[in-house]
Amino acid sequence: MKRIAILGSTGSIGSQTLQIVREQGDIEVVALAAGQNVPLLEQQIREFKPKTAALWSEEAAKELESRLLDTDVKILSGMEGLLTIARMEGYEILVTAVVGMLGIRPTMAAVEAGKTIALANKETLVTAGHLIMPMAAEKGVPILPVDSEHSAIFQSLNGEGSNRIQRILLTASGGPFRGRKREELKNVQLEDALKHPNWSMGRKITIDSATLVNKGLEVMEATWLFDVRPEQVQVVVHPQSVIHSMVEYEDGGIMAQLGTPDMRLPIQYALYYPNRRPLSGKRIDFFELGAMTFEKPDMETFSGLSLAYRALKEGGNIPTAYNAANEKAVSLFLQRKIAFLEIPEIIQGSMEQVTYRKTPALDEILETEQEVYQWIESRW
Ligand code: NDP
Repeated sequence: MKRIAILGSTGSIGSQTLQIVREQGDIEVVALAAGQNVPLLEQQIREFKPKTAALWSEEAAKELESRLLDTDVKILSGMEGLLTIARMEGYEILVTAVVGMLGIRPTMAAVEAGKTIALANKETLVTAGHLIMPMAAEKGVPILPVDSEHSAIFQSLNGEGSNRIQRILLTASGGPFRGRKREELKNVQLEDALKHPNWSMGRKITIDSATLVNKGLEVMEATWLFDVRPEQVQVVVHPQSVIHSMVEYEDGGIMAQLGTPDMRLPIQYALYYPNRRPLSGKRIDFFELGAMTFEKPDMETFSGLSLAYRALKEGGNIPTAYNAANEKAVSLFLQRKIAFLEIPEIIQGSMEQVTYRKTPALDEILETEQEVYQWIESRW
């Protein structure tokens, strides 16, 4: 019996993880955590019977506790709740499916405690990859990617031993605004940006997909997960989202992973790695598909992607500034306080004004986040 804990269980990735648990029937859920969604977490606790659960909001945690007096689940709150779950005994795999830099400390605590990480929360590696990857290597802890592109790369590395990666071809759907120019993006509304053509995901990552910042974050994530240089990661726009990413080797051979756009496959692959399990759902019909197409990304219109390469080149805490600025800007866009094109503007401004730190320790990463937030709040 596998035993897991999930941070972010009420979200898109968290709920799909629980769907797999339900379908497979041989995984025990030891702990669940979410932000503030009391009704859904209550439902999940009643169904999956974890020993411990946590909500970020103390008030929500109290409400949850009062609703669950007939059970013996222990309810925690705040960062302490997430850290307790990350470190607790009695499970092997932590699924990190919260959104944003909030995931850094629990992920580090879980690595320290020797847990295998099924990593969806890419913002963690983008900002603290230089701390987490060496720590995981030292502890012998696997970091298994859940992001579909990184899972595809991971699957394309199977059986290749020490063969060197020449290039990673990271595919991108192009998002809802593929093909548009800056002028046409000036007045796009929140509803337009939330309409992803192929994937159904949480709100933040859906906006990140529309700006191509998600692809920028994924380029950074790939450099940490697969130990490649930024120039070895080529983004390829592939609107059909059938090829989830590819690895080119030194002899020019390319391995790819294909599938329908269904996040349950990469989640399940991480949970059962190296084994594959049956999975319900649609299969690719190549005759129905007919053709697959590929384009260069428009880095000028979608400057969020070129800024990501720049952040990687500048290194230090600049990827943190990129990510923190994006988190804040997306939250402002979701509240309809800024326009779509202001998102990359805010990211660029933040990268340019932040105090540079070459090898930021954890507290400096968190200070960078605060510095960026304050700068944005003072202007927008
Ligand atoms: P969602 O917004 O759907 O879910 C976020 C989850 O995090 C919810 O359970 C939410 O709880 C919880 N959460 C939010 N704030 C806190 C907090 N302060 N403390 C504890 N839990 C909190 O996000 P997604 O599932 O879409 O994305 C999760 C991560 O996975 C992101 O990093 C994203 O980039 C990555 N990812 C997502 C993919 C997808 O298909 N969705 C694909 C690849 C990567 P509550 O419901 O209570 O607010």
